[in-house]
Amino acid sequence: MATELENGPVPVVTEAVERLSPSLVRVTFGGPGPASFASLGVPDEAVVLRFPGSEGGRWYTVRRCEPGRLTVDIVLHPGGIGGEWAARARIGDRLEITHRNSWFRRPAEAGWQLLLGDVTALPAIGRIVEESADRLPTTVLVEVPHREDAQELPGAQVRWMHTAGLGHAPSRIAELVRGARLPPGPGYVYVAGEASATRAVRRYLRQELGLPAGSYGVVGYWRAESEKWFARVAETGTDTAAIYAEELDAGGDLEDVRARYEERLATLGL
Ligand SMILES: Cc1cc2nc3c(=O)[nH]c(=O)nc-3n(C[C@H](O)[C@H](O)[C@H](O)COP(=O)(O)OP(=O)(O)OC[C@H]3O[C@@H](n4cnc5c(N)ncnc54)[C@H](O)[C@@H]3O)c2cc1C
Repeated sequence: MATELENGPVPVVTEAVERLSPSLVRVTFGGPGPASFASLGVPDEAVVLRFPGSEGGRWYTVRRCEPGRLTVDIVLHPGGIGGEWAARARIGDRLEITHRNSWFRRPAEAGWQLLLGDVTALPAIGRIVEESADRLPTTVLVEVPHREDAQELPGAQVRWMHTAGLGHAPSRIAELVRGARLPPGPGYVYVAGEASATRAVRRYLRQELGLPAGSYGVVGYWRAESEKWFARVAETGTDTAAIYAEELDAGGDLEDVRARYEERLATLGL
C-alpha cells in the first residue's frame, strides 16, 4: 500500500512544535525536503516518517502542505517510537519521509460526506473539512480520549465521543457509526482508526447497510496491542503481504480487496 518516493527519502527539519491538546502535538517541518514536496492533492495524504535513530517508519497524515512546509499532528501515547518522539520533539530535530500515499476517494457525484474516526483520524478529518465542508454537507463523528481534544471544525456537524479508548479500552467508533443516519442520495463515508474497530465498521457498512462499492473508504490506522498481533502473525507464519497481494490479484474495488483480506486475517485469529 505504501508508495516509495521517486527520488529516495526526503529529509525534513523540525521548525515548530505545538501542544494542541492533551493527546495531540502539532509538528511543522521545513528544510530543503518540503520545498520540493508537491501535495498529492488528496486530503488524507499521509507520509511515512522515519525518526532519528530508528530503522522503521510510521504513517502520519499531512495536516497541512504549504510551500516549503509540512505539518503533522501526532498522537501522544506511551510505548511507540512516533508517540514518544512527539512528546520530546525539539526544533532542529531531523527526520526523513520515506513513503507517501492517500486513500480518500470521494466520488464526484457525492452529495454529502460522513467522516468517522478516533483521534488519529482527526488530522485527516480536519483537512477534509477545511477543504470541502463549505460546499458539501458534512457530518463528523470522532472518538477522543479527552474532552479538550475536540477541535473547531467549521462547516461540519460534529459529534465528539469522549472515551478511554486508544489503547486503554476498545475503540467505540463502531457504536458511533450505528447511531449515524446517512442522508439520501449518493454520498461518501470515510473511516479511519484502530484496526479491529475499523474492521467492525467495514462489516457494518458493507454487510448491514449494503453500501455500494466506491461510496465508502475504511482504513485501519493503528492496532491496539500491536506487539501481540505481530507475535501471532509470526506464530502462525502468516504472510500478510502475500495475502493482500492475492486478494488484489483476485480483483474488485479496493474496498472489496480490503474486506476479503480482513476476513482472511480474521479466520486466522488476526
Ligand atoms: C494512513 C495513516 C495515517 C495516519 N495518520 C496519523 C496521524 O496523523 N497522527 C497520528 O498520531 N497517527 C496517525 N496514524 C497512526 C500511526 O501511524 C500509528 O498510531 C502508529 O502505530 C504510531 O506509531 P508509534 O511508533 O507511536 O507506536 P507503535 O510502535 O506502532 O506501537 C507501540 C504501542 O503503542 C500502541 N499504539 C500505536 N498507536 C497508538 C495510538 N495512536 N494510541 C494508542 N496506542 C497506540 C500499539 O498498539 C503498541 O502497543 C496514521 C496511520 C495511517 C496508516
